Amino acid sequence: METGKGTEHCAICGMTLQYETAARELSCTVCGRKENAHIVCPSGHYLCESCHGAEAKKMVREMSLLTLEKDPLRTAVAMFSQPMVPMLGCEHAYIAAGAFMSALKNQGLVKVTNEDTEEAFRRLERQAAGGYCGLTGVCGIVPAMGACISILYGSKCGKDMEQRLTMEAATRVASEILGLTGPSCCKAYALAGINVAVDFLKEASGISLPVEDRAPKCSWSSRHPHGCRREKCPYFDPASLSSAVMAKPAPRSGNC
Ligand SMILES: [Zn+2]
Ligand SMILES: [Zn+2]
Repeated sequence: METGKGTEHCAICGMTLQYETAARELSCTVCGRKENAHIVCPSGHYLCESCHGAEAKKMVREMSLLTLEKDPLRTAVAMFSQPMVPMLGCEHAYIAAGAFMSALKNQGLVKVTNEDTEEAFRRLERQAAGGYCGLTGVCGIVPAMGACISILYGSKCGKDMEQRLTMEAATRVASEILGLTGPSCCKAYALAGINVAVDFLKEASGISLPVEDRAPKCSWSSRHPHGCRREKCPYFDPASLSSAVMAKPAPRSGNC
């Protein structure tokens, strides 16, 4: 078993978190739930998947249900800007799904309800887990966009074309994310996932969402704990690094 020292910190004591390649069972420090964990605090603190990022997920849920925005990339960037959102973490899978579903609901060409958005979030509880981009190769944004497409087409196990469309959308998102990795950036992955889903829906059903800027500029490069990919990333903004010197200290990074 390999233990690597990360650059992110325990939300409870602030110590640097460790990334492990083999899971061990830990109890959540907040709710007591036992889970197999790969990201641990040297002092033994652990936050389970539901307690970790709870505040950010609550914000994403509320913004998704309340926003009137029809441009999903604008919604995603607005969510990134909220102070409780860490630089990295599976909160970004919820952001990608919430921004996409709320844009479709507000645009109105296809019937999407708040319950549909909640259903996408429920599916993510099963398949978006911190650090698994590196542990299994599946970033939570892949099932995020897959869940959205699945809900739109009514896919479930045993369906024919509906499942094929869902799996094709998820595969395209995974492929796009592959082109953006080394190291991971959940913000770039979320924006790319939304872009792929927008194109996929147009191609599959002729439904267009109004996206003003396909590559919104990222303001968070200096916060990346594993190092921003800078010019290799389509969302990189060199100006964000010079303005970051003046910026306030950023909140701790999430478990990714
Ligand atoms: Zn700790
Ligand atoms: Zn917990």
